[in-house]
Amino acid sequence: MKTNIGRFLTALVLVSATVNAGTQVEPKQALELLQKQDQQFERQVVQVTDNVFTAVGFHGANTSMIVGTDGVIIVDTLMGPTSAATALEAFRRYSDKPVKAIIYTHSHGDHTGGASAFAGDGDPEIYAMQSFGSSTGLGDDLTPTALVRGARQFGRALQPDEATNRGVAPVGTVDHDRGKGFLAPTVLIAEDRYKTTIAGVEIEMHSGPGETDDAMYVWLPGEKVLFSGDNFYSSFPNLYAIRGTPYRNVLTWSDSVAKMASLEPEHLVPGHTMPIKGGEAATTALKDYSEAIRSVYEQTVSGINEGKGPDLIAHDVVLPDHLKNKTYLVEFYGTVPHAVRAIYAGLVGWYDGNPATLNPLHPKAESQRMAQLAGGTGKLTKKMLRALDDEEFQWALELADQLKWLDDGDGQLARETKIKALRALAAREYNAPNRNYYLSYANELESGRLSDIWH
Ligand SMILES: [Zn+2]
Repeated sequence: MKTNIGRFLTALVLVSATVNAGTQVEPKQALELLQKQDQQFERQVVQVTDNVFTAVGFHGANTSMIVGTDGVIIVDTLMGPTSAATALEAFRRYSDKPVKAIIYTHSHGDHTGGASAFAGDGDPEIYAMQSFGSSTGLGDDLTPTALVRGARQFGRALQPDEATNRGVAPVGTVDHDRGKGFLAPTVLIAEDRYKTTIAGVEIEMHSGPGETDDAMYVWLPGEKVLFSGDNFYSSFPNLYAIRGTPYRNVLTWSDSVAKMASLEPEHLVPGHTMPIKGGEAATTALKDYSEAIRSVYEQTVSGINEGKGPDLIAHDVVLPDHLKNKTYLVEFYGTVPHAVRAIYAGLVGWYDGNPATLNPLHPKAESQRMAQLAGGTGKLTKKMLRALDDEEFQWALELADQLKWLDDGDGQLARETKIKALRALAAREYNAPNRNYYLSYANELESGRLSDIWH
């Protein structure tokens, strides 16, 4: 399956690269790819070793149980107590020992919100890094934006027949109790590498900043099992999330994954998607992942130093050939161009160095001049409709955005065109956040909930 998907993608990406982002393919193929990725989070308990069990697909993330002599240790707790209780029930088929400890790999809600269900009436220690909670997203001032854009990225409001998946997580998760089972950490780890024994199990917690600054990875030296948290999962990493996130230091992320590879695990248990079994497979995956992140960073930095802006670099940067066909680097969740833009903005801010972009025209003034160039608003409108007919969907989208500003333009037609173009792009998209965002936005436009003027 691996190489088939890889070959398939390489061929398709070559065909579509000049017009569209690399994650645009024929509608049928996009759906097939997403359906294959669904296998990464089908609900099941995977027995990783004699004493390690991972519940996949009980919510968006994974939760794991390590069985010790007189108790069990839980690594990550899902989003809320309902899903966590279901996972615990599934774990109980393998061990009914009490929960002695809970470990949070990082502070994201899909890993911390269900702790109470695992703790039950007991009083387990809860381990996290000392910096726990330091990187929670956009911050309170931006809650309205975080909610709207997050819902689009994850496709929360999509109808069942529109929804596919979330890249590294299934749709249709139980979310009503999100965060309700969160329990504060009781042991905050200051060391880079903390060793302890819990329920007879030798266990190490290593600082591993990456997707979040407060991330750790968990290492069982006895069975050579590595719990990577969200610094690794089967998809190109979400170095930037389109829901809106502060800059994620990608070099640190790459370094943390390289450190994980140096442990040479026999089993790799990601924060999302299926565990990887076998020393060579696990170590290679981690090495490749680290290299892919570093390569995107280095190519972006080269582009910046050549004086290129983010629009250009985002189209230039590609994964090295030997990494393109790796199933765990397919852009189901993160994308290379989005990573490039995030790195650019994270390192040098929004300005691309071109004086023409220091003080651009107001969008409306630009649209009026574009209409004049096209020979009038009527001609610009025809070009927009023609682009849609010619399946130049991105161009149709951009022309619809021009038309919507024009006082003598047909705003309703611009909106209808935008909806059609978004749905056409979505149908061809196998990057789940892009697909979900296109569809959600189209639905909002159609329902009249969105004025779509302030862009
Ligand atoms: Zn996660």
